Amino acid sequence: QPVLGILGGGQLARMLALAAAPLGVRALVVDSAADACAGQVAELVKADWTDYAALEAFAGQVDVVTFDFENVPADTAHWLAKRVAVFPAPRALAVAQDRLAEKTLFRECGLQTPDFKAIDTRAELDEALALIGAPAILKTRRLGYDGKGQFRIRSLADADAAWAALGAQASAHGLILEAFVPFERELSVIAVRGRHGEFRTWPLTQNWHTDGVLSLSLAPAPDVGALQDRATELARTLAEKLDYVGVFALELFVKNGELLGNEMAPRVHNSGHWTIEGAVTSQFENHVRAVIGLPLGDTSARGLSAMFNWIGELPDADPVLEAVDAHWHDYGKQPRPGRKVGHATVCAPNASVLMERLGGIAHALGRDQQVDAALRAVAK
Ligand code: ATP
Ligand code: MG
Ligand code: MG
Repeated sequence: QPVLGILGGGQLARMLALAAAPLGVRALVVDSAADACAGQVAELVKADWTDYAALEAFAGQVDVVTFDFENVPADTAHWLAKRVAVFPAPRALAVAQDRLAEKTLFRECGLQTPDFKAIDTRAELDEALALIGAPAILKTRRLGYDGKGQFRIRSLADADAAWAALGAQASAHGLILEAFVPFERELSVIAVRGRHGEFRTWPLTQNWHTDGVLSLSLAPAPDVGALQDRATELARTLAEKLDYVGVFALELFVKNGELLGNEMAPRVHNSGHWTIEGAVTSQFENHVRAVIGLPLGDTSARGLSAMFNWIGELPDADPVLEAVDAHWHDYGKQPRPGRKVGHATVCAPNASVLMERLGGIAHALGRDQQVDAALRAVAK
C-alpha cells in the first residue's frame, strides 16, 4: 500500500488523507502540534521542521512527500528530497514562498501583476511609495497567510504606521509594496499537473474575502468568457516553468476585464473545497493521484456550487444538514478567533436552483449579505 507523507497536519492534510483512503493510499502526517486536526483521520508524527532524526524515520516510512503547509522551510524540503520523492519539488515551493519571486515569475509567464517593489529599508518604502502611490499594501515577502503580515496604506501619511507594523520584519523576511488594485472581482484557478506533465484545471472560482480571509467561493464563476482559457493557459505556462507536480491555486484579480496575478498557493487551496462535492474529481483526490503517479481524474463541475468558510467557530449545522445537496465539513479544530474551523458547500444543477437553495439557508447561516453578493453574480 503506497504511503503518502504530508508535511503539516491542518484541514488540508485532513482532506487529503480522506481522499487518499479510497485510492488505497495511506497518509502519514507530520506536525509539531500533537492535536493537529489531520491526526483525527490519519497517523500523526509529532515533530518540528528541524527534527532531522524524526524526519529521517518519516522519510523511511513514506513513498512520496507533499505539503499541507506552504511555509515548511526550504532547507527541510531540500533535505527530504535527497531521501524520498517530494512533490511539488522544493524549487517550486521556494518560488511560491516569496512574493517577490512569485510576482517576477508571473510576469515572465505573461501574467500582469499589480505594480510592486521590494523594500528592505524605511527609505526604500518612501521611494517605492513615491513611485507606486497610495493606496498601496505593504506585505511581508514570506510567511504571510489569511491577510496576516499586511498593512494597507491609504495615504502617504500612513507610511510611518506601516513601518511601525512591519518594519521589524524587513531584515528577516523582506517586504514588498504593492499597488492596491480596485478590482471588479477576485477569481482563482485550481490546476493540477501530473508526474508525466498531464495538466488540467477546474472551472474558475469567484471568491469573496472578509478582513483578508476567504469567506465565500462560487464555482464555476459566472460570466467569465475568454478569461477561462486565458487563466488555464497561464496556469499551464507557470506549471511547466516550475516543472510542478500536484495541485496549485493561482489567485487572480479582474480589473478592466483583464487578469492580474495576486499570488499562487503550492498546494490544494481553500477556494477549491467546492470540488469535493461539486466536481467529478476533487482537488484532494487529484493531488493524491498526481503525486503518487496515478492517472488524473475529470475536473468538470457537476453543476454550480457555493462554499462558505466558517471562521472562528462553527454555526449550527442543522440548516445545512437539512438542505438539499448541502454538505457540512467540521475540521475538528478548537474554536479560536480568525481560525478556519470548517466549511459548507451548497450544490445545485443550475443557477436558478442554486439561488433558491442559497436563499433558503442564507439567513440561518448568518450570511445574508454575502449570499446577496453571490446571488447578484449568478443572476447576471
Ligand atoms: P491567503 O490566505 O490567500 O494566502 P495572504 O495572506 O497570502 O492570503 P493575499 O492573498 O496577498 O494574502 O491577500 C488577501 C486578500 O487581500 C486578497 O485576496 C485580496 O482580497 C486582498 N488584497 C491583497 N493584495 C491586494 C492588492 N494589491 N489590491 C487589492 N486587494 C488586495
Ligand atoms: Mg497567500
Ligand atoms: Mg491569497
